[in-house]
Amino acid sequence: MIATLAKALYKIDDVVPEDGLYLCVPCSFVQEFRAGELFTTCIACYAGTSMGPEDYTEEHVDFWEKFA
Ligand SMILES: [Zn+2]
Repeated sequence: MIATLAKALYKIDDVVPEDGLYLCVPCSFVQEFRAGELFTTCIACYAGTSMGPEDYTEEHVDFWEKFA
């Protein structure tokens, strides 16, 4: 786990805690999610799938970060 960052990260199928923009950490793509939805695969880089960037090919990897 990343202990040096206080920011929460979320992974695919985590419930979105609040409306807002979320940043895909591996590719910096920003996507809007609404509270109660589930986080999805990043449509820009496919993080969290077998086609995702190196180190982000597993579904359990946290990569969505609250942006605004
Ligand atoms: Zn991405």
